[in-house]
Amino acid sequence: MVTKTKGIGDLFKEIIDKGLCTVCGACVGDCPYVVFYRGKIRMLDFCNRTEGHCYEYCPRTFTDLDAISNKIHGTSYTGDEIGTVKEVLMARAGDSKTRAKAQYGGTVSALLSLALDNGVIDAAILSKNTDDKLPSGFVARSSAQVLEGAGSNYMAYPALEALNGMPRDSKDRLGIVVTPCQAIALAKMKVSPPSQRVSMENVRLSIGLFCTWALAYDRFFEFIKNNVSPAKIKKFDIPPPPANRFDFYIGKEVESFPLDGIRNYRMSTCAYCLDMTAEFTDISLGSVEGIEGWNTVIVRTQQGMDIVEEAKKKGVLEIKELPAQNLVHLKDAALIKKARAVQAIVERTGDKNDLMYLGISDNLKGKLLSHRVTAQGGH
Ligand SMILES: Cc1cc2nc3c(=O)[nH]c(=O)nc-3n(C[C@H](O)[C@H](O)[C@H](O)COP(=O)(O)OP(=O)(O)OC[C@H]3O[C@@H](n4cnc5c(N)ncnc54)[C@H](O)[C@@H]3O)c2cc1C
Repeated sequence: MVTKTKGIGDLFKEIIDKGLCTVCGACVGDCPYVVFYRGKIRMLDFCNRTEGHCYEYCPRTFTDLDAISNKIHGTSYTGDEIGTVKEVLMARAGDSKTRAKAQYGGTVSALLSLALDNGVIDAAILSKNTDDKLPSGFVARSSAQVLEGAGSNYMAYPALEALNGMPRDSKDRLGIVVTPCQAIALAKMKVSPPSQRVSMENVRLSIGLFCTWALAYDRFFEFIKNNVSPAKIKKFDIPPPPANRFDFYIGKEVESFPLDGIRNYRMSTCAYCLDMTAEFTDISLGSVEGIEGWNTVIVRTQQGMDIVEEAKKKGVLEIKELPAQNLVHLKDAALIKKARAVQAIVERTGDKNDLMYLGISDNLKGKLLSHRVTAQGGH
């Protein structure tokens, strides 16, 4: 069993009202009672159901990591730093137009375009910026539309709302780009599929983004409005360490702010997340420290292998070996995120036996509790 299922009232009481919501969107999109509005999940009217998918799929209600790992990877959760791995490599889009629009190497956009062209998927659920530069979910059905979504918006948004909003009887084979918390919710949906939503069998390709934390949409938008003109922003970037800054690309200029100040706008719930590399997806990607314009790529499943192999064959991706020291550093950072999360949870609950939502083995808990964490680094 993945969760002890309760209803929306419990979801608000235990998660949303306590600042633990990640706004992944798993609870919105198909329910008339709950909506995402201005950065928060809000109840429009009281639903008195005592059991609901809203509670069940939330990445902050009890989550049995063995169960979701078995479903996605066919093996129990090991707690290895970067999760289940078939191959780690370094890649970038072969096409310079994709690279120019993309955040780093454009590998995400290139893989999605290939999956659409090859008929692996019919549509991809992505995010693009509104005129205010807020992230918003949309369905891309062509390479041109995939490129409309290229680039990173570091504000959390409800990606799964767009999935839940797909027609229930849709036969579209879907791709989706998710952050780690969204990937966990999606995996919970796959373990215990909803009967009243689009079939989980339709989701054929999940691409995960590495994530150390996301920004709270409502508070960070205030920061943007007060400091930079939203309409003029072309791109956001958090260059890899040791840069320690947040960049707004405004026309040809770059306006930078110290990352330490920007961290004040983090979602508080990110402190309790133990997944940096989106472990429950087919392929996950991040930047490559010290090598501009390339992505670190972790291929995790057979579906992931198939599409990456095809991309290599067709020249859709340029591939290189990830330097050994980058992999060591990635694993260190991912382990620190796990340890920090478990230590923060215990600090919050005051009880080593109460890990809030986290279902992990005693062995792993002991290892993470005793791991020495350094000062906050990374994004
Ligand atoms: C909140 C957040 C935190 C991140 N933290 C890290 C980190 O700590 N370390 C690291 O190496 N990389 C991090 N990344 C990932 C990195 O920014 C790039 O997205 C990744 O390297 C892929 O690059 P690309 O050039 O292939 O992407 P592109 O080809 O430009 O595609 C990016 C895709 O991301 C989707 N997207 C954009 N914003 C969001 C969002 N808020 N939520 C979900 N999907 C979105 C777009 O729809 C697009 O399809 C983070 C990304 C996000 C959104």
